Amino acid sequence: MPKQAHMADLQAEAAVANLMDALDNRPATHTFKVELICIVDTCNSGMFVSRTHKNNIVLPSFVGFHWAKRAFEWNYLRQYR
Ligand SMILES: Cc1cc2nc3c(=O)[nH]c(=O)nc-3n(C[C@H](O)[C@H](O)[C@H](O)COP(=O)(O)OP(=O)(O)OC[C@H]3O[C@@H](n4cnc5c(N)ncnc54)[C@H](O)[C@@H]3O)c2cc1C
Repeated sequence: MPKQAHMADLQAEAAVANLMDALDNRPATHTFKVELICIVDTCNSGMFVSRTHKNNIVLPSFVGFHWAKRAFEWNYLRQYR
């Protein structure tokens, strides 16, 4: 599995859902997708990479991906700030 925060998020959602089921005496059956989705950010550009069971995409370096990652980071982290 990818050693990636996206994977950690998917696993955490399944773990919490299973914990809630267990606490309610329901079978814990939640699983998670195994996938790699990221923007490799080089500060002045970035590459989009997606590897899932359905696709394998690597898009060429493009400055817009740097700004897309900055926007994602801002949106993702604001719930914790
Ligand atoms: C330099 C770097 C860049 C990365 N960039 C990206 C990226 O761009 N995109 C991406 O998706 N992923 C990235 N990753 C990977 C991502 O950071 C990890 O996959 C993700 O943080 C894993 O989350 P986690 O909650 O499983 O573990 P962690 O985030 O490592 O959290 C584990 C926590 O447990 C605490 N802990 C450990 N032992 C104990 C203990 N005995 N008692 C109490 N607390 C303990 C630690 O202090 C830590 O806070 C990067 C990783 C590194 C190192």
